[in-house]
Parts: sequence; structure tokens; C-alpha cells
Amino acid sequence: MSAQWVAELWRIGLSLLAALLIGLLMGYALLLICLVLALFLFVHLRALYRLDARLRHSKSYNPPDVDGVWGEVYYLFYRSQQRQRKRKKLLVSYLNRFKMMTKAMPDATVVLRHGSEIEWFNEAAQRQLGLRHPQDLTQRIDNLIRLPSFVAFLRNQNNSEPLEIASPDHEGMMLSIVVIPYGNDRRLLVARDVSQLHRLEETRRDFVANASHELRTPLTVINGYLETMADSPSDLAKTQWDSPVKVMYEQSLRMTSIVDDLLMLSRLETSPREIHREVVDIPSLIRLVAEEGRVLSGDKKHAISVEVDDSVRLRGNQPQLYSVFTNLIFNAVHYTPAGGAIVIRWYLTESGACFEVEDSGVGIAPQHIFRLTERFYRVDVGRSRDAGGTGLGLAIVKHILDHHDGHLTIESTVGKGSVFRSRFPLSLVQEATVTQWS
Ligand code: ADP
Repeated sequence: MSAQWVAELWRIGLSLLAALLIGLLMGYALLLICLVLALFLFVHLRALYRLDARLRHSKSYNPPDVDGVWGEVYYLFYRSQQRQRKRKKLLVSYLNRFKMMTKAMPDATVVLRHGSEIEWFNEAAQRQLGLRHPQDLTQRIDNLIRLPSFVAFLRNQNNSEPLEIASPDHEGMMLSIVVIPYGNDRRLLVARDVSQLHRLEETRRDFVANASHELRTPLTVINGYLETMADSPSDLAKTQWDSPVKVMYEQSLRMTSIVDDLLMLSRLETSPREIHREVVDIPSLIRLVAEEGRVLSGDKKHAISVEVDDSVRLRGNQPQLYSVFTNLIFNAVHYTPAGGAIVIRWYLTESGACFEVEDSGVGIAPQHIFRLTERFYRVDVGRSRDAGGTGLGLAIVKHILDHHDGHLTIESTVGKGSVFRSRFPLSLVQEATVTQWS
């Protein structure tokens, strides 16, 4: 208990005692005690009334000059008011700084609650996503930006890659979007302007496509002449030029393969994903490529076996799927020593269809596995060249699988062999087969 309260109690106690003594002397003890109590009641009620009036109307932060308990109450109230004022000032300065920061931010930022309802957005979001303040607050963002890819991206809670879309408000502007969940039901949507990167990427793509295209014709001519010279029965060809011409011919064939693969990649990058989809007889296609694999194996005499489920077909692009199968089967032949085993499988799983090539070849160390689908990435450049590889095969496979909503997984042990598995979604598996699972 504070000193003021002790003093107040003393004051009341002594006043009542004095009233009692004087009252006893005068014969009006009860009356005097009541008078003293009424006086105290009046004093405190008045102080309470003043405090109430001050709380309601006063803007002044200075405590009134009052003694006793009420003086202390006023002082404590004044102190808490001061603290609150400071806290408010601090909060306002934080808020102003936050506002300035979000205004300066080049990325569009939107706070979403309950899934996709807009709670807040910054100025960049108004410029890049075309959101209007305040009309669009509390609207669902997928009602304002109706691009199917954006709507699907927003629904999916496990997006590992950002989504690239054209800005709904700016022609030619490309946005890269990420959604980050936080708190209980909040999500932060951040959109970055990647138009410049996109243009650079386009320029790179065009350059590779044009360069490959331009190189193709002269290479065909050179190939033709070198082939004729290599096969020429003339004395000149049989003597000093025999071996250089053969090497030149081999190298020009290699260059042709690289140019063809680069062109294929360029086409995959620029063509729409669902180009020319049809029901493909995958089991027959696999058997055909396996036969080509046996021819390629030649003297190496690999044991190539095929285990396919004949009832499973796929809706897809036939030439592209042919390219996946040849790349994976020919790689197994190239990177498996003579006499090794290669098993080719095609089967249905609960989540889709799977094309698998298992070999007992050289295998791949774990640090290389996640880089194998990069262009020109090779574990052993010499071995790849000897095998006639371009370093582009698995990059092509990855692109084609992307086009079919599929993905590639690789398991491998050095010295033991590898399994390359291409998975295709159930949605592409022919319907007659899908019903087996339902
Ligand atoms: P390449 O034309 O060089 O074969 P790919 O893109 O097809 O190019 O393959 C990239 C690299 O992955 C190869 O250079 C090779 O090192 C490795 N690789 C691919 N398939 C196999 C396999 N079945 N066994 C071992 N290594 C492989």
C-alpha cells in the first residue's frame, strides 16, 4: 500500500475519532460521525467526478495540482497517458516507415486472407496487377485476375516454382509470381517484373534457333561432299587424305547432331505445350526403339529385354515421345559395357504411367545426378563424345516430359547401373486403362 493511502486512512481514522470524542462531549456523537463520513464521501465523489470529466473531455496531459490519494491517482493516470502517447508515436512512425517502404518497393505485394481475399496491397500491385484502391480490397484476387494458370497456381498450396504470367494491366510486361503462406490463414503474393529477363531469354532462344537453322544447310553440303570423298575409290582419297577425310566426316556428322538437337530444343521451348496430342500406341513404339537399341548395341551384345503392359496407351505427341524413348534407351546402350543387361519397362501405377530404363552400366555419382538435364552437362566428356553424344539428350527429355506434365527421376549407383524413370500423369493415360484403378 502506498504512503498516500496510509495517510488517507490515518486521516479518516483520526477525523472519526475526533468526531466521536467531540460528539460524546456534546451528546451528538452519531450525528458528528455521520457528518464526517458525509464530508469524506462528498470530497471523494467530487474528485471522482473531476477525474471522470477529465477522462472524457480533457486533452491536457498535465495532472491537476491535487494532494492525497487523488493526487497519486492523477499522477499515475498522467504517467500511463504519457507512456501510451510515446507508444502511439512510435507505432505511427513505424507505420509511416512501412508505408514508405512498401511504396518504394518495386515488387507488387498483396496480402491475401481466407485463401484469396485481398486484405492489403501496395502501389506496385496497382501498377503491375491493375488492382484498384480501395474498391478491390476484400475482393477475391482470382475474380480479378482470371488467367487459368494463375487460378490453378493460387489453388495449389505446394508450388515449388514461381509462375510466369503476362501482366493483366501492362502489355508486354511479364511477371514472376510467388505465394508465401504465413500466420494462420494469410498468404503473401509477390509479383516481380521480369520483362527484361524474359526479353533476354527470348533473344537467347531466337539466337540459338537462328544460328542452328543457319548452320544446318552449310553442314548438309559439307557432309555430302565429305561422305562422297570418304567413299571415293580414287587414289588420292585412299592415300594421304583417307584418314583426315573420315575424321572430318565424323566430326561434321557430330556437328549435325548437335545442331539438330539444338533445333529440337528451340522448337520445344517455343511450341505450345499441348501440340498435336493423339493416342499413342506406346508398347509398339517402345518395341520399335528397343529393336533400334539392339542394332546400336551391335557387337557389344547387350541383353535388352522389354516388359510392357500392352493395355496402357498415352495421349501425347508421338515424335516427342519417340525422342524420349530413343534418348533413354540409347544412353543405356552407350553407358553400359559390352554384355551388360538393359531392361525396358512400361507400366501403370496409381498416379499414372511409367516408362523405365534400367541398365547395369557405369552408373553416375550422386553429385552429378541433379545436373544431368542441363544443356551440355556430361559426367565424362570423353566418354560422351566417344559414344557420339551431344550432351543435350536429357535436356530434351526433360522438356518433352514438361510438355506432357511428366517428370524424370534418376537412381544410380556408380559401377552398378542406373534407372531412368519417366512418369506421366493419369490424366494422359488412355481412359480404358484409367477405369482399372477406379
Ligand atoms: P549425352 O549425349 O552426352 O549422352 P545426355 O544429355 O543424354 O548427353 O546425358 C548427359 C550425361 O548423363 C551423359 O554425358 C552421361 O554422362 C550421363 N548419362 C546419361 N545416361 C546415362 C546412363 N544410362 N548411365 C550412365 N550415365 C548416363
